[in-house]
Amino acid sequence: MQIGFIGLGNMGHHMARNLASAGHTVVGFDLHAPCPAGVTAAASGAEAAQGADVVITMLPNGAILRAVAAEVIAAMKPGAVLLDCSTVDVDSARGVAEQAEAAGLAALDAPVSGGTGGADAGTLTFMVGGPQNAFATAQPLFEIMGQKAVHCGGAGNGQAAKICNNMILGVTMTATCEAFALADKLGLDRQAMFDVVSTSSGYSWSMNAYCPAPGVGPDSPADNGYKPGFAAELMLKDLRLSQQAAEAVDADTPLGQATTALYETFVESEGGAGQDFSAMLPRFERKSRG
Ligand code: NAD
Repeated sequence: MQIGFIGLGNMGHHMARNLASAGHTVVGFDLHAPCPAGVTAAASGAEAAQGADVVITMLPNGAILRAVAAEVIAAMKPGAVLLDCSTVDVDSARGVAEQAEAAGLAALDAPVSGGTGGADAGTLTFMVGGPQNAFATAQPLFEIMGQKAVHCGGAGNGQAAKICNNMILGVTMTATCEAFALADKLGLDRQAMFDVVSTSSGYSWSMNAYCPAPGVGPDSPADNGYKPGFAAELMLKDLRLSQQAAEAVDADTPLGQATTALYETFVESEGGAGQDFSAMLPRFERKSRG
């Protein structure tokens, strides 16, 4: 396929490289980042989109996505697919899909989980919203960039799945960290805490696969000085998107709201920026109840 790839940052760089290595023709554009090996540089987003069967975007937020989409939709050939893999608000995803449809194109929102490691290794998971035929067109590309793609329904549903998943992740990580901090103060050994919880009803991905306590459980960012991993500020971004969506549809999400407030304080005034999101554990250790 001929692929336009816009946004060659920490994630997009690897994804574009993997597509080119698999034999696709990839034309890339980024305002700042260089093109990876095997990807031809274009002078603009519109140039990268010209003649492409699929245009992939991997951008920081919804406002930037809307601006880039307006430019590239006008340049894309009829029937082509606009595949956005960024994490953005549900409204932007649905707005871009409407614009694309009106121009005779198909749009998919396909945010990912798996981080830069998954992007590099081609093992991302894609959560996809949009028409079935566009999903089928993009399937071979998902197989190169990832290990799993789940079709979640119509436009915006990929983003909905992503923020709901990450709201659960933020809440369970926070709960796991505060439970470890409480266990410490109760004199419970961390290994014993892990051995019990990881095989009892308190288990979760946060405890079992990404344990926030160093030296306990599988290897995780906690064992590497809380170097991300998944940075606290990216968790905050996703939690904010979950609360923006909850407000838009009048959903009651008290735990999501409390967790968003905790990460906001952690990132903005407690030194959490640049640390893994599991560094909530040392943050709780430093605090007392009052
Ligand atoms: P990044 O900031 O490293 O990359 C974004 C790139 O977009 C940058 O290189 C920037 O120069 C480029 N860009 C900005 N505006 C542009 C424009 N108008 N035209 C062309 N290029 C433009 O971010 P990232 O870590 O690669 O993340 C990308 C997206 O993936 C985000 O939405 C993020 O939330 C999501 N995501 C990231 C991770 C992660 O671990 N990094 C994991 C899952 C999802």
